[in-house]
Amino acid sequence: MLKKSFLGLTNYRIEYELLPVKVPVPEKVSASKTVTLFHPKNGDLSAAPAFQTGDRVKTGQKIALFADDPAYVISSVTGNISSISPYTGDFGKQFNAISINIDENEEIEEPFDNQTASLDTAVAHLAFLPGNPAYSALAEPEKAINTIVITGADDDLLIGTNQYVVSYALNDIKRGIGILKEISGVEQIVLVTAGESVQGYGHIGAEVKGLDTGYPAALPRMIMKDVLGEVVPAGSNCEDMGVCFMSAEAVASIGKAFGSGQIPVNKILTLVTKDGTQRLIETTIGTPIRDILDKFDVSINEEDRIILGGPMRGSAIYSLDHPVLPDTNGIVILDRNDAAYASDYPCINCGDCVRACPAQIQVHMLVRFLEAGQFEEAADNYDLLSCIDCGICSFVCVSRIPILQYIKLAKYELDRAKASEIMETTETTEVTEATEATEATDA
Ligand code: SF4
Ligand code: SF4
Repeated sequence: MLKKSFLGLTNYRIEYELLPVKVPVPEKVSASKTVTLFHPKNGDLSAAPAFQTGDRVKTGQKIALFADDPAYVISSVTGNISSISPYTGDFGKQFNAISINIDENEEIEEPFDNQTASLDTAVAHLAFLPGNPAYSALAEPEKAINTIVITGADDDLLIGTNQYVVSYALNDIKRGIGILKEISGVEQIVLVTAGESVQGYGHIGAEVKGLDTGYPAALPRMIMKDVLGEVVPAGSNCEDMGVCFMSAEAVASIGKAFGSGQIPVNKILTLVTKDGTQRLIETTIGTPIRDILDKFDVSINEEDRIILGGPMRGSAIYSLDHPVLPDTNGIVILDRNDAAYASDYPCINCGDCVRACPAQIQVHMLVRFLEAGQFEEAADNYDLLSCIDCGICSFVCVSRIPILQYIKLAKYELDRAKASEIMETTETTEVTEATEATEATDA
């Protein structure tokens, strides 16, 4: 078994784009009529939902569809729910899409309890914030998180969202850092910024470190290696190593929320249009992509691509009604003539992917197992779990094999298999314990 850890040797160098010193102010885009919020589907879907079509909701109101389900969304507008319908995302992930017709008479939800900063409060009220903070690792005692890394650099090319937030919301980030320390007990906080500059941040309660400008230096596993000096072994993740990552926007949102008691609902993102123009945008979570493109007269022709995220790691969407999500950092529009079409050409063993891979994976071998759906073999023998999801192999592949998409699917399926295995083991243990308890009582 190879099981290599990534060591970061690559012949390719692609540069992240840094925002100019004088960062432009984001242009505001309002949702025209409706916003849509994706509520993760968990639990008993046959139960009667707590919200129905026609219900009125306020800006900042928590919408938990099912009483026993911890999942929720935050209404980003005031209005009436116009529909609740199933939505299938990437790899078959299930959501309830909650659409809300906007009422111009905005009502703001009462402040949440921001006087006591606690992890429970954050989990209960601040999970659906701009930047999508993930508290799960902080809430799991067995993970024993000792470091929080705040990413002030965006992980994909052409995207400047978190760079902007670091430039303009430093006070919110500073407050967010204080809150994070208080609710997690973690004292070591590191803010990583785009480029080498680590000057001018003052005392913000975190160590500030600059990142190399070559892609994929801003991906978590690269930050672990280059900034923290720790290599994440294959099959493990950063949290297993005691490190939790949060975006600068997420931390700024936490700071803003605890500072005011109101839940922020506006998202910063970067729009890249067909001619390569980049714009910073501020819009409400749930705004349809269509409204953003209409605002800037961006026309979409047949077979043009709309990509959520960046050009290396993003995912194409098929509908202009798709909403801006809490973690939508970028929208990239590709003209059909510039889009790389996946082909059914076979691998020609040119070796470009192997030379380019920063994890030094034998990608040309890996891809054969992925194409055949042999995911466990790919993990056991060809370093699937050492992959850092950078997408460079797909970018360089002359046969246009959608390698990153295969990799994402394989990891998703392996995670699902592992989760169901854990669930079956837990159920079996519970049944055995119950049987033993009954037998002991009878005896
Ligand atoms: S996405 Fe491709 S190039 Fe990047 S680490 Fe994974 S296999 Fe290597
Ligand atoms: S770049 Fe594409 S064609 Fe070349 S070896 Fe890798 S997978 Fe095969």
